[in-house]
Formats: sequence, C-alpha cells, structure tokens
Amino acid sequence: MIVVRSGEELRRALEEARGRGRSVGYVPTMGALHDGHLALVRAARGLDDVVVASVFVNPLQFGADEDFETYPRDEERDLGLLEKAEADIAWLPSAEELFPAGFGLTIAVPRLSNVLCGVGRPTHFAGVTTELGKILIFLAPTAVYLGEKDFQQLVVMRALVRDLGLPMAVRAVPTVREPDGLALSSRNVYLTVDQRPVAASIFRILSELTTQLRGERASVDAVLAEGRQALTRAGVQRIEYLELVDRETLDPVRAAEPGNRLVVAVWVGSTRLIDNMEV
Ligand code: AMP
Repeated sequence: MIVVRSGEELRRALEEARGRGRSVGYVPTMGALHDGHLALVRAARGLDDVVVASVFVNPLQFGADEDFETYPRDEERDLGLLEKAEADIAWLPSAEELFPAGFGLTIAVPRLSNVLCGVGRPTHFAGVTTELGKILIFLAPTAVYLGEKDFQQLVVMRALVRDLGLPMAVRAVPTVREPDGLALSSRNVYLTVDQRPVAASIFRILSELTTQLRGERASVDAVLAEGRQALTRAGVQRIEYLELVDRETLDPVRAAEPGNRLVVAVWVGSTRLIDNMEV
C-alpha cells in the first residue's frame, strides 16, 4: 500500500494504473476506521483492480455546534487497518488543498438534502456533496463505495452522480453491525456503558417494525407511533425522526411496499445515532 497526501501524488499513482486499463474503486472515509469501513474496502478489493481509500475529516459537513474538533482521529491505526484490508492507495488529503483560500464552490442536491437528517443538520449534505462531488470529478474512479448505514447520504450521492452524469458506479455496501445489532459507527465511542444497551435497542426495534410493516394490513402511521413509544421506553432521550420513506425520493410512504426504507435518528445522551432497514 502506498500513502499519498497531495492530489498530484494521487494523480501520478493512478495514471500508471489507468494506462494499463485497470479499474479504480474509491472508498471515502473520515477515519476512526472500523469493520464497516473495511467492508467497503473489501467490496472494492473484490470488484476493482486498484483500491483507493481516503481518510479526511471533512469540515464542511459539520455544523458549527457539532463535533468536528473532537471527532476521533488516529492516522497510524487507520493506515494499518487499510493495509490489512489490502487497499492499494491510502489518500490523506489536506483541507488546504481541497478547500483553498477563497473556496466558494457549493455542489448541492437540495431536494434530497433538506429532509430527514437535513432538518436538524441543514448544512450537512451540502458539505458532503461539495467535498465528495469535487473529489469524484477529480479522481474519476470506476466505482465509489458507500455504506447503507448512511442511507440518506447514499441516496443523495446517487442523485449527484446521476445529475452530473459522472461515468462511474455507486456501489452500496450493507450495514455492518455489532453482535447485538448496533450499527458500527465511529461515534459509538462516545456511548457510556449504560447507554450502550439503549443504542442496541434501535436495531431490535427497527427489526420488529419492519416485520410488522411486511404484514398485509399494517397501518404505517400506527406502526411508526408504536415504534416511537418503543424507542422512548428503551431509554432514547429524543427521537429526531422515525419514518418510512421511498428508497429513491425519500418521500414519506403511507402504504408499505417492499423496498421502502425505515429510517431513524435518535439521541442517546449527547450522542446522535442513525440507522435504517429495508422493508
Ligand atoms: P464515515 O467515515 O462515517 O464518513 O463513513 C465512511 C463510509 O463508511 C460511508 O460510506 C459510510 O456509510 C460507511 N459506513 C460507516 N459505518 C458503516 C457500517 N456500520 N456499515 C457499513 N458501512 C458503514
């Protein structure tokens, strides 16, 4: 595995591979790597010739009152894990290069970014799409690998690639979970011992609700109302949303159909957790 920092180094490393007609799989991450990230690397390893993984805590996607400063960072550990997962190139971009002085670009997909997580985090997805949009145009990978864990991000990024006409595949990787069902997340380290079972109840409740929604005469409103009560009973402090949505438009769904997505954002103590499940 080689480690590159500047865009120029990355371009040179890829030029040679591209000359030989090899496909390039790209895995964007913010580091603090866990098995969820590594599942993306392994998926890319299985399908593409050259695997590029980036580690960059993107300042644009954090709100002013969010955890940009305290977000977990451990470059050495991350590089070791990427090497073990057989990435070919680890790219550690700098904020100065990605967002030079005077940077004034915004790439946004407002229609899909203002709902669900976008209500509580109004600048978040524009931060993601500006950063990742710029990178995808520059890197021009054969495929970009994204986790279903961040389902809205996946939907937004699919729309960005489609609307810009970028010639690349967007490949979704299923959510990797702890044995008790909690979706792996770099932010799980914020949870206390007491909060951990509360966080795990999210998966259990989503599983119960999707089972109910698959039933013939399920009332979506009644199932969601029951789900909100169950989350509160389990000890969740605040429910930002619990919705059943269309998997492409993110519009709320009133009669469940296979392929719809049950999506949730809650606060456990001062930690915000998201999860989702297909019906
Ligand atoms: P992040 O470092 O949080 O920006 O995540 C980088 C990528 O890893 C995103 O595409 C996430 O959706 C994906 N990811 C994060 N957690 C998981 C997980 N538990 N399972 C699968 N993919 C994940």
